[in-house]
Amino acid sequence: MKYENFSAKKLQICAFFSNFAPKMDNLYRHLYHWYEINHRILPWRETEDPYAIWLSEIILQQTRVAQGMAYYMRFIARWPRVEDLAAADEAEVLREWQGLGYYSRARNLHKAAKQIVEQCTMNNVQCTKGSTICFPKTFEEIRALPGVGDYTAGAIASFAYNMPYPAVDGNVYRVVARLLDIDEAFDTSAGKKLFRKKIEELLDRENPRLFNSAIMEFGALHCTPVLGDACLSCPLQECCLGYAHGTAELLPVRKPRPKVRDRWFTYHIYLCGDETLIRRREEKDIWYHLYEFPCTEGQTDDKYPFTHILSHQKIHARFMVHRVQKMPEIPGTICIPWEDLNAYALSRLTLRALDTLPHKA
Ligand code: SF4
Repeated sequence: MKYENFSAKKLQICAFFSNFAPKMDNLYRHLYHWYEINHRILPWRETEDPYAIWLSEIILQQTRVAQGMAYYMRFIARWPRVEDLAAADEAEVLREWQGLGYYSRARNLHKAAKQIVEQCTMNNVQCTKGSTICFPKTFEEIRALPGVGDYTAGAIASFAYNMPYPAVDGNVYRVVARLLDIDEAFDTSAGKKLFRKKIEELLDRENPRLFNSAIMEFGALHCTPVLGDACLSCPLQECCLGYAHGTAELLPVRKPRPKVRDRWFTYHIYLCGDETLIRRREEKDIWYHLYEFPCTEGQTDDKYPFTHILSHQKIHARFMVHRVQKMPEIPGTICIPWEDLNAYALSRLTLRALDTLPHKA
């Protein structure tokens, strides 16, 4: 039995969460105090503009803050209002997104902006500069936007409108799994349901904006995947069942990862004078609507110097240069000046290859 050898003190700690209500104030007090002293100044946490918060949340999906910051600043400077983004071409948005990966996020962002503005126009609502009156105001409306899941909808609803919805990202799953010593995998449907229920019980309904910000930041900065000595200086230590049971380092639990698929790409860089050939990926596959050099797929030998890891695929690639007198006719390609390559949204792999190739290959 898990709790058999517990000291009286530890049993008292276990009672912390069974006698929830009177103790929750303690948890909030320690957490908010920690947050006040330690939180990072992030531009999207200093605003209540739902458009800016939504933009930051989409950029930060699967992206570290350090990398996402520059993208956020560029997007908000170029398209300060949702209607500015809606009026942009998808190609411009993809171009600005270049290098961030997971391009479906950018496509959905643009699609959602157009949808919001269309809805606004239908309802005859006037958007004024800096105003956010266009943006959906209920959790359900926000959740219905393309590219918005439960986490993002909860984040926007709580950060922008202080509405009592949890925002459960990977950091929150980790902190809650440890605080409550939950050894159910958080990424199964049963696990998600269980965690959601527990987090809804934990949520500070009077201060959802502060609670969500604080617990996310606490997971990002203090209760990190590798704990080291973090528990020893942790303000939540006395409330933490994972610490009390010695299981914190093992949590959270994930379901086994799916097998990664290997693919081999050979890119052909045709050079004819100052021109080259590129094509836009139209297949429902990775890098949809991004540009790249003509490509053939399939492994012929072991000489693929580039490895590019995606969530479920491992791409092995090579780039072969062909100097030609006349461009070959390859369906779906366009011939462009080499200098214009930067004007097209290229996949991260292509950008990496270009960095290593001498000028004009
Ligand atoms: S005691 Fe350790 S595991 Fe528990 S919340 Fe603090 S840092 Fe996380």
